[in-house]
Amino acid sequence: MSNKTIGLSDRLYNYLLSVSLREPEILVKLREETANHPAASMQIAPEQGQFMALLVQLLGASKTLEVGVFTGYSSLCVALALPPDGRIVACDVSEEYTAIARRYWQLAGVAHKIDLHLAPALETLDRLLASGQAETFDFAFIDADKENYWAYYERSLQLIRPGGLIAIDNVLWNGRVADLQDRDRSTQSIRDFNRQLLADGRVTISLVPIADGLTLALKPR
Ligand code: CA
Repeated sequence: MSNKTIGLSDRLYNYLLSVSLREPEILVKLREETANHPAASMQIAPEQGQFMALLVQLLGASKTLEVGVFTGYSSLCVALALPPDGRIVACDVSEEYTAIARRYWQLAGVAHKIDLHLAPALETLDRLLASGQAETFDFAFIDADKENYWAYYERSLQLIRPGGLIAIDNVLWNGRVADLQDRDRSTQSIRDFNRQLLADGRVTISLVPIADGLTLALKPR
């Protein structure tokens, strides 16, 4: 037994999936299609999608935000977990990637729940704030360009209600954040983000070492 987070061998990871993953067929198909894509590693892990769906149910969420859609796996997980009148505001800049997402949202019968904004996410988030939607979201998922993580976080924090949750993806960045020789811009941005968030007394946090690292930031009631 260990009192620190266990490293997962392939064998143990496969075991974890075999005893816990309940992946709907439509998500399996989307994952298989995205696997052939050159940017396939941008897709979240299936156990992470299932975890986020659980969080959405735990929060009793009906209105959520997603910054970074890619081919739609995370938004589809969230949409399937939302009640029939639930809504996702989804931000992305890629017509090409989100065309795949839109096809799967249709196939899954949840397209009506997702309002896709094809524009730089900061513009969309600022528009939401300007239109009086501060503190109306229950949940936000940040998984886009790492240089803007703090800006996305600041706006998301205004947009979620007290008791709402922000989930920030890739905070362990394949281990590169801990390699101080790694001066890559994205690596440094995530490193700075993690350090700043630790000092941010406005939220309760936990860095969950699932997939590539998912930090949860709860806005207290
Ligand atoms: Ca990601």
